[in-house]
Amino acid sequence: MKDHLYFIDLNKTDILDKTYRYKQILESVFVNGKIDFKDISNIPRDLRERLRDVSEIVNLKEETREVSVDGTVKFLFRLHDGAFIESVFLVDINSNVTFCISTQVGCRMGCVFCRTGTMGLVRNLTSYEILSQIIYIYSYMFNECDIKDRLFNIVFMGMGEGLDNFDNLVDTIKLIVKKEHFGLSPSRITVSTCGLADMITRFSFIYPNVRIAVSLNSPIQEKRASIMPVSNKYPIDKLASVLKEIYQRTRNRITLEYVLIKDYNMSDEDIKALSIFNSDAFHINLIPLNHSDENVKRPEENDITSFMSKLEKKGFCVTRRYRRGADIKADCGQLCTEFKK
Ligand code: SAH
Ligand code: SF4
Repeated sequence: MKDHLYFIDLNKTDILDKTYRYKQILESVFVNGKIDFKDISNIPRDLRERLRDVSEIVNLKEETREVSVDGTVKFLFRLHDGAFIESVFLVDINSNVTFCISTQVGCRMGCVFCRTGTMGLVRNLTSYEILSQIIYIYSYMFNECDIKDRLFNIVFMGMGEGLDNFDNLVDTIKLIVKKEHFGLSPSRITVSTCGLADMITRFSFIYPNVRIAVSLNSPIQEKRASIMPVSNKYPIDKLASVLKEIYQRTRNRITLEYVLIKDYNMSDEDIKALSIFNSDAFHINLIPLNHSDENVKRPEENDITSFMSKLEKKGFCVTRRYRRGADIKADCGQLCTEFKK
């Protein structure tokens, strides 16, 4: 695989014989979902061959694809150096389409409940590798799924901590929102983070309209730090004040993701401590833990509903994230490729 010339940089070379060719290529990719130059039929065959020699539209290869009973699709991609990443295509009950995209091979944040975390950080993805996942899944949607309205959401909730790969994430978003590319509205993009407070602030100045989701998981400092080491560096109080400042400035409501762990973070004491987040700035999204092991367990269904209704009674804006793709391990925190090499 070639990683030297991105197809979006073809206009910076003299390979294209006519100036309108570049526009034709962008349209074929970002509108019609072509991912191979040989399929761009409105440019001459010999030029297509030459383009295949010097460049490529996506710099990853589909290794496997798993389809869930609920329609969720999980793609395993091989990168040019042999590393693997996973990305997920989801359609919810309201037919909204979401691409869940990875930003790193593995992750170094070490949250104890997350399978990606067990891999450690292998490497950051380049902006082009992140963009390639999106182009690839768009192509799947447009050409294989028969969804032609072209609207989708992107959540950076796949493998990795996007804000730990800051520059490449920022560059990728620039490429996605560009009018000549997908022209996606920033409000359709969500960056999920374990709470790298300084980076969230920096990011919010660059993209005030991109949605921020923070994996909170416990409002109590000692408890949070014991399941999310990042909390030692950015304690709850600091995180809360940074997030409130961002909301004051952007008026962009912040989602707090709250993974529900049995006998750990669902008590009245937790609800009391959550009061620092009981404001218009936040929306709480409850995610029942997706797998159990000797350290952390998924709560019972009635404990989930009771915790949720207690929060509602206290005036929190709270929703529950329903499981998607559980049978193919495509749900939150389940993406892990270390055993696939
Ligand atoms: N690094 C980013 C994005 C990837 S994790 C972050 O931490 O936010 C995406 C989401 O999956 C996060 O909300 C995380 O809290 C959640 N998650 C991780 N492991 C999980 C598990 N075992 N069950 C349910 N959700 C999990
Ligand atoms: Fe990394 Fe997010 Fe998993 Fe934590 S939850 S280990 S930050 S991917």
